[in-house]
Formats: sequence, structure tokens, C-alpha cells
Amino acid sequence: MAVRTTWNIVHSCGHEISHDLSNRPADRRAGFARWLQGRDCTDCWKAARDEDSAGKEEWLAAKRAEEQQAATEWAEQFDMPPLEGPEKALAWGERSRHQLVTTAYSALVTEGSWDEADWAALEDTIRTVTRVGWWIDQRDAEGTDLPELLDAATSDDTGTENPFR
Ligand SMILES: [Zn+2]
Repeated sequence: MAVRTTWNIVHSCGHEISHDLSNRPADRRAGFARWLQGRDCTDCWKAARDEDSAGKEEWLAAKRAEEQQAATEWAEQFDMPPLEGPEKALAWGERSRHQLVTTAYSALVTEGSWDEADWAALEDTIRTVTRVGWWIDQRDAEGTDLPELLDAATSDDTGTENPFR
């Protein structure tokens, strides 16, 4: 009696694939064949995985573009100076600044005890810190920590030129 080594499996995706199971112990082949039947074939499995990661990348890119636009509009509205530093870091820095400053406003003014005058003073300080790396470094900071962080900013972090001059 010939020992069966090749199994035609109809996968859950509907594709029928011939599998050589000769590298598995003979008494395990039927069980393994059943297990294969419950799964998509390799091509379909790979296609689904690639689609997943493409979809995720697309979603991330769209989300980033949306945040970038919000950051740009916000900077114009609140008269925030352009950041200084490596070209490729600028967009990230602007998003980080937008994120942290709006979080700080919510925490300190909307939900906190600061009035608009307190905030306006802080905003003046915010405008002086234009080193893009500083804002990127604070990207995970708590909004309530922003005043303290700004106090610790050094002359390296503040603008090399006054944008309003
Ligand atoms: Zn398939």
C-alpha cells in the first residue's frame, strides 16, 4: 500500500492547492491537512496581510496630513513664528507644538484656573521658542508641564532672529 504524501486541500478561501506533506510524520498528515483546510492558502494569506499594512500606512498618512493642516492653520491664527531647524523635521515639530500648546490650553485655561491674560503671557514665551528639536523633544509632555518646560528652555532654543522685527 502506497503511503499518501500529497494532499489536495480546499482552503477556506476556496483555492484548491496540492500540498506535499511527506516531511510530516505519516500519522500526522491527515490532521495537518484538516488544519490547512481551515485556513486561507498562502497567497491569500499574504495578500490579506499586505492589504492590511497598506491600509494602515494610508490611514497614518491621511491622519498626519490632517494634523499637519490643523497645525499650519493654528500657527497662522495664533501668529506662531515658523520653526527653525532641519527641513525634514519642521513638519513634525509644528505638529508637536500644535499638539502640546492646545493640550496645555485645555488643561490650564479651559479646565484649569488660568485666565486669558495668564495664557497670553505664556503664549508670548511660546513664540520665542523656535528650535524645532525642542518641540519634538516635548512631544510626549503633559500640557500642565508646558510653563515649567518653557522656563527651562535655553537661549539655544529661542529664535536666532526676531520674526517681528
Ligand atoms: Zn486562496
